[in-house]
Amino acid sequence: TGMISLEEAKARILSFVHPLGTERISVSQALGRVCAREVQAAVDLPGFDNSAMDGYAVQSADTRQAEEVSVALKCAGRIGAGEKFAGTVVRGTCVRLFTGSMLPSGADAVVMQEDTTSNGDVISIRCSAKPFENVRLRGEDIRSGTPILNAGERITATRSSLLAASGRSELVVHRTPTIALIATGNELREPGEPLQPGQIHESNRLLLSGLLAPLGCRILTLPIIRDDLEKTRAALQDAFSKADLVVTTGGVSVGEFDFVKEAFTNLGGKLELWRIAIRPGKPFAFGRVDSKFLFGLPGNPVSALVTFLLLARPAILRLQGASDLNLPELEGELNEPVSNRGDRRHFVRVRWNNGRVRVAGPQASHMLGALRDADGLLDVPPDTSLLTGARVKVQIWEMLESANRL
Ligand code: AMP
Ligand code: MG
Repeated sequence: TGMISLEEAKARILSFVHPLGTERISVSQALGRVCAREVQAAVDLPGFDNSAMDGYAVQSADTRQAEEVSVALKCAGRIGAGEKFAGTVVRGTCVRLFTGSMLPSGADAVVMQEDTTSNGDVISIRCSAKPFENVRLRGEDIRSGTPILNAGERITATRSSLLAASGRSELVVHRTPTIALIATGNELREPGEPLQPGQIHESNRLLLSGLLAPLGCRILTLPIIRDDLEKTRAALQDAFSKADLVVTTGGVSVGEFDFVKEAFTNLGGKLELWRIAIRPGKPFAFGRVDSKFLFGLPGNPVSALVTFLLLARPAILRLQGASDLNLPELEGELNEPVSNRGDRRHFVRVRWNNGRVRVAGPQASHMLGALRDADGLLDVPPDTSLLTGARVKVQIWEMLESANRL
């Protein structure tokens, strides 16, 4: 069987995947969710003209002489934050106010406290104020009715705070998928369990749930299953009854212990199995059952990582309604030469650090140690030699702390 390109595999997968339905939720619950409909500001921001400083509201014309000699103004009152001043600032007067206090009528500027001296209710002003100096104008940040969030954008900390500030307490988002994680393999034991000869601790479910965590999906970590057709079928059936998408690791190869494909088709699933022309990668299964999806990843942890990032992640983002399905990219300079003499694209695991790109240790697909300090994939085409200093783009899956600051 021939190999297909990564692009072709991705396009085929995405041709079946459509955003889940929508729901209206509270802004306080929206972090990580994807906006389904444009949201407009309900109010102006700022909502009213207000002071940028602790100081005095004045008519700027009254302060014109203050550069040469100080000007005395009579203080007519005080406006705390959250209050409205009943009177008007007339010539020769000022009003005490604070950062965020509503500008009183009649005033067109604020003199900061540091440029004044008070003596009872007489305030000496030492600096002239231009019209609107130290005033934050109504609507200068956001105007009521302007779009503040587009469909397809993910709710971040700053976006949720903007929604709240601009008068939105709810918004319409896409439903987030429930994703079931299954590890297959007779050799696998739960972390912490004692091992018999030949056994290993299962680690792919933690890898995948960690990669999924920032996407705000509901994650079901299901038990390890043995390499057994009936057990695999039962586990998949259970997983599909609870989840929109099931990710398995292991058991998709060609050995006589690989039951994921057969178990899935026994359930009525339609399977597409590909050898994708990438390294690491090897066999990878994608399948559909009703409107749900199976991602059968290879068992080798590095292969599971790379195929998840390049093939499963975009599909999950599409289910969430996200408009950008790709990993973010950063540019950098290679710290060492990298070459690919093979005939498949090599996704080299690297560490991007302040614009320098280092290869993250040995690249064999079973080696987890080198991933400790990896945060990106470097796509090296076949028959390519990249020299030290070459400018490259790295697809980042996670931002690590800067090594310089350690
Ligand atoms: P498989 O794809 O099932 O043939 O597994 C390939 C390699 O990955 C074998 O060395 C497995 O022991 C290892 N492996 C499979 N699943 C896991 C897992 N969940 N955690 C850690 N290693 C695994
Ligand atoms: Mg296996």
